[in-house]
Amino acid sequence: MEPRAVVTPRGEDRIAGGHLWVYRSDVADVQASGGEVVAVVGARRRLIGRALYSDRSQIALRLLVHGDRPVDAAFWRARLEAAIRFREGLGIDATAYRLVHGEGDLLPSLIVDRYGEHLVVQSLSQGIERALPEITAALVEHLAPAGILARNDVKVRALEGLGQEVALLHGAVPPAIPVREGPIEYEVDPWTGQKTGLFLDQRENRAAGASYARGRLFDGFSYNGGFAMRLAASCDQVVAADISADAVARIEANVRRNGLTNVRAIEANVFDELRRLERERERFDTIVLDPPAFAKNKASIERALAGYREINLRALRILSPGGCLITCSCSYHVDEAAFAQVIYEAAIDAGVHVGVVEKRMQGRDHPVLLGVPETYYLKCLIVRRIE
Ligand code: SAH
Repeated sequence: MEPRAVVTPRGEDRIAGGHLWVYRSDVADVQASGGEVVAVVGARRRLIGRALYSDRSQIALRLLVHGDRPVDAAFWRARLEAAIRFREGLGIDATAYRLVHGEGDLLPSLIVDRYGEHLVVQSLSQGIERALPEITAALVEHLAPAGILARNDVKVRALEGLGQEVALLHGAVPPAIPVREGPIEYEVDPWTGQKTGLFLDQRENRAAGASYARGRLFDGFSYNGGFAMRLAASCDQVVAADISADAVARIEANVRRNGLTNVRAIEANVFDELRRLERERERFDTIVLDPPAFAKNKASIERALAGYREINLRALRILSPGGCLITCSCSYHVDEAAFAQVIYEAAIDAGVHVGVVEKRMQGRDHPVLLGVPETYYLKCLIVRRIE
């Protein structure tokens, strides 16, 4: 008999509402082992669809198809090809971008990023882990990459009972891959870099930010200098700050690679550095704030909001009148409205008038799936201090 999971009416409602996840508490009965594709069965034994089953995570089911459609090699090939075709039509001016964004591409818990001729995948559930050979075969057949690396050293895998590992799945992947993003070149280390090597989700925000950049720029939480370098051409002087010595080394290497002479990288805690800059009465015409997710879960929302308020308040205080602040939050738990409220409160506390110039989000290669709010995580506001 086909492995199957019977869901409660609430589970059925979630799927009807467009979500792909069914929590363990909404699974009434299951006959399957972890990682298998199961038939999802509702009231009166109706077949709702097929899903990946996890025997460990709170997310027990991740829906793959509605109705009685097979999940076979042809299924994986078709879903992957649709995701890749969408990116090919976006006219992305870069050699590094996301090819598969999990739920946003109806391939829940699978990430595939392209770095030139190489691919980096992340398998974030038992089901994707089991399907990885088929997925790898489909990617090789369709894209003929020089190599595929699995960056499966991601904490969320522990929730699935999966180990932490970095493994070569196909061909060869070097420790340094040259990639281009607009006019900027990076050397990316897919084996050890953060995420899969680059913060690809910010690519379009870096490009957008460039049109407002001028004068003195402060790039806070810079990682490998992405915003700093993209904006440097329109600025006189750039300071890129990151708390990690490794990140600062990456910024310096990338700055040299691009022949930029006006970018200085500093190892600093942005909270302290902003306070110091304010004390010293320094002024900047452009400021970027792209911190890591301050809210990792619901319990930390209040502290996270306080953190966002603090850095944005300090930034607005040292921003010259007429200057722009490009401010981001990648915490899913702090939604767009809450983040906008934080910026408004920071402006009131700083005693400045601020106008919203652009409301942005993660790049188009990281699509949001309506019905799955978790797929909308990155917010980017570009605001101008008017006075
Ligand atoms: N802006 C980057 C991505 C930033 S990721 C880009 O466009 O690619 C967040 C970075 O913040 C990480 O590199 C991390 O090392 C750094 N970081 C975390 N806490 C910090 C702190 N308190 N002060 C400075 N940097 C911090």
